Amino acid sequence: MGKYAFGVDVGGTTVKLGLFDEDGRVLDKWEIPTVKENDGESILPDVAESLQAKMKERGLGEADLAGIGIGVPGAVDGSGMLVGGAVNLGWKPFHISKALNAYINVPVKAANDANAAAFGELWQGGGKGCRSMVTVTLGTGVGGGIIVDGRILTGAKGAAGEIGHIHIDDEETEVCSCGSRGCLEQYGSATGVVRLAKRRLAEDQKPSVLREGELSAKAVFDAVKAGDDVAQEIAERFGAYLGKGLAAVANVVNPEKFVIGGGVSKAGEVLFDFIKPAFRKYAFPPCRETGFALATLGNDAGIYGAAGLILLGGSDD
Ligand SMILES: [Zn+2]
Repeated sequence: MGKYAFGVDVGGTTVKLGLFDEDGRVLDKWEIPTVKENDGESILPDVAESLQAKMKERGLGEADLAGIGIGVPGAVDGSGMLVGGAVNLGWKPFHISKALNAYINVPVKAANDANAAAFGELWQGGGKGCRSMVTVTLGTGVGGGIIVDGRILTGAKGAAGEIGHIHIDDEETEVCSCGSRGCLEQYGSATGVVRLAKRRLAEDQKPSVLREGELSAKAVFDAVKAGDDVAQEIAERFGAYLGKGLAAVANVVNPEKFVIGGGVSKAGEVLFDFIKPAFRKYAFPPCRETGFALATLGNDAGIYGAAGLILLGGSDD
């Protein structure tokens, strides 16, 4: 078996690619545009062509490769079948691993992109050294990736780890992107923080720097750091929701660590101060001391994780 692996992360605008050695070092990384015309039919051939060009440039043959890992924005089952298609790319369901093998005949493992990113953080990021870990991505929504005993949890339809849609509030009137009401991501995401901020600011006229300028999750946490009382209350509400949701996750998964990433995580470890009180209150006693860490790989988590699927043997088949 070869000792190099490619990690590929297919996104809506660019495809990120990386060449890794068996020690998990990235030797080269680059990007190509995601061409979505004609239902994204050229994306996979473009990826294959780019990988073949890199192999030529580096003097690598198929025998030098342990395989190719690929993360895609859709649910993937353990065999590499894209179960429900990838709406953002125009892809219908198909067997990605077999399709890529038509171009480069090495082992291919495919995973949902959020799960691949989780695997990257486990392999070389904030969860390094863990066997069981949950990534929580606080971006536009709340994404999750669950790894138990070194394996990605995919579930029957590849929908495992959708922690953003854990029901958390019976009183919510606004509808979540999933059609339900009161989901964790309505409070724990960047947009959720802004919603909580707007609601808090409308409650009274207490002075706050947040009454001027544009509201954002960053503005809220910057104001917290500057000692703004209203921002502090907003962050406490955010943390109460997230802590409660993550306690539910911990009680099922019992991870060693939560690794927190996404735009909101740029606020830093101060987030943990807000999450931990509710987390500890609702977590089952053996889960109460679950660690919290920040994600460290940023946008490269996906290529690391994809390569890790090959090099660390993190298959879920
Ligand atoms: Zn939802």
